[in-house]
Amino acid sequence: MSLFTPHYTFRAYFHLTADFLKEQGINTLLLDIDNTLAPYEQPLPDERLKAWLSSLCEAGIAVAFLSNNHSERVELFNGELGLGCRYDAHKPLTGRAKALFRSLGGTKKTTAFMGDQIFTDVCCARLCGARAFLVPPIWDRRDRGTRFKRRLERGILKRYYKKHPDQPDVREGNPITEEIREQMESEHT
Ligand SMILES: [Mg+2]
Repeated sequence: MSLFTPHYTFRAYFHLTADFLKEQGINTLLLDIDNTLAPYEQPLPDERLKAWLSSLCEAGIAVAFLSNNHSERVELFNGELGLGCRYDAHKPLTGRAKALFRSLGGTKKTTAFMGDQIFTDVCCARLCGARAFLVPPIWDRRDRGTRFKRRLERGILKRYYKKHPDQPDVREGNPITEEIREQMESEHT
């Protein structure tokens, strides 16, 4: 077991279904927001995300946001949804993450985390003893720190996919990125 290895990977958040979670014995799902569900620049959840969240909640999955971002971002994003949430979560530290899933009735065995970063989201889930689901970042920052982190992640992912060739490959990118790109192009023509 590695702290940096996801249990499962998905090309986009909406590829994860309530049925899959139930098969895995998961009843609690903690979601990263930035670059997992929406790019940084998108202040509110879109219709697809709302429909996906409803499908999980209707299936009896407890869903909450676990974000390292600040209260303004997280509370605005969650405003209309009114889900459980923790901002300033300090992932990969586990204190706030554990408090959050326990408050929803989850245990480490019945909780999964979904996020786009190995060193925060996956590592936090692993340190909690919970399931770690990784998606590709929707819209990555191009600063040096992020580029460096992504390079380290690539090494980990190479080993991961050698062992798990059946898993959807996050290195092929997130389909939401393509949608945003196409939308930007159509706005400029
Ligand atoms: Mg993120």
